[in-house]
Amino acid sequence: MNTAPYAAVNGNEGGLPASLSVLGATGPVGRQALEVAGEHKIPLDLLTANTDVSGMEALARAYSPRFAVMADEGAARDLAARLKDTPVTVRGGTDALCETIRVVNSPVTVNAILGEAGLLPTLACASLGRRLALSNKESLVVAGEIVKAEAKKAGCEIIPVDSEHSAIFQCLHAGRKSDVRSILLTASGGPFRGMTREQLAKVTLQDALAHPTWKMGAKITVDSATMMNKGFEVIEAAHLFDVSPDAIKVVVHPESIIHSAVEYIDSAVVAQLSSPDMRLCVQYALTYPARLPGLTRELDLFSVGTLNFFKPDPEAFPLLPLAFYAMKRGGGVPAVLNAANEVAVAAFLKEKISFTDISRIVSETVEKLTVCKNAKTVEELLDADKQARSVAAALI
Ligand code: NDP
Repeated sequence: MNTAPYAAVNGNEGGLPASLSVLGATGPVGRQALEVAGEHKIPLDLLTANTDVSGMEALARAYSPRFAVMADEGAARDLAARLKDTPVTVRGGTDALCETIRVVNSPVTVNAILGEAGLLPTLACASLGRRLALSNKESLVVAGEIVKAEAKKAGCEIIPVDSEHSAIFQCLHAGRKSDVRSILLTASGGPFRGMTREQLAKVTLQDALAHPTWKMGAKITVDSATMMNKGFEVIEAAHLFDVSPDAIKVVVHPESIIHSAVEYIDSAVVAQLSSPDMRLCVQYALTYPARLPGLTRELDLFSVGTLNFFKPDPEAFPLLPLAFYAMKRGGGVPAVLNAANEVAVAAFLKEKISFTDISRIVSETVEKLTVCKNAKTVEELLDADKQARSVAAALI
């Protein structure tokens, strides 16, 4: 294995950052990042959202950031009017969002934006050479090579926030990277674990939104139910830790207590365990390599009792093997996979298509657009994303 860009600690002993920016502040991960900031009294430079003006107004009043940016310009005008009595500077639009990231230049930025929309903000953070606490896995799915190259050039540390990747990152401290045999990426299996394809054809939106162990945004909850989320995490892990997808084994573990593990060449397996709580992952990404007491409750193994492990079912959940395929094809194929999935999941959330239609639409879009494997630059990858959105929309 090579050394990934995040590994450069730059002599930093960690601890609380002097200030923080939270992108995607109105989502579940953004809100949990703010709980951590509040607990440790970390001043906020910048909060961002897309259209949720009421949510942002409440957060701006509670956390008093210097800047609040809405990607949607109409929402920004509304927010500016509502926050007139505060010193918060409000801006609107994606360009303003990326520019404000550069202006505030926070020592740590949490990117918890949903979907491909997180890519340009990730690149803006990477170019600053500070620390990026990355929850937006889609940045790495769509443009992993470019994000890593930019981070390496500028000296940006990328610390993963996704619970599995945070776990792997911690387990990698137990040995040399060159001595890693494989990564064991755990998956809860979602609400439909053990179901056949025939049974899955009949599940409803409400069934899909009932995740057994994690409270998350609607889109990622559906991605967990289809196992697309695990597929994205395979691609994310391959980029973050510079491993071949063939060295990543997905292990279904319904209790979500072991958040992932690393197997070394002597057959030792080092795992990270905790109560399922994203606030632990966010806090660790802020304070690494230091650890601090936080909001996460202690793990009581006696009340957990039994831990179970199963193999994933590739026939019932075809989006997981499709992610391995997309990663191996490379270029713009993972971007196509992500965009087709965003379109299909949005249609499922509006109850326009059935649960099994999601994998049909995503698979057919990837099949039609394998030519996008030659995409390399950000512009070409965003073009692959655009093509995939129109192909997927036509399949609904
Ligand atoms: P949500 O969809 O609930 O929230 C996402 C945030 O992104 C909101 O603040 C939203 O603003 C903002 N946003 C949405 N679209 C845009 C856009 N076009 N431009 C700018 N901002 C936008 O997501 P989650 O918090 O569930 O997840 C965030 C990221 O973290 C995802 O990449 C997800 O895969 C990852 N993740 C989430 C976990 C979880 O526990 N939820 C666990 C691990 C990873 P608005 O509210 O105004 O729409």
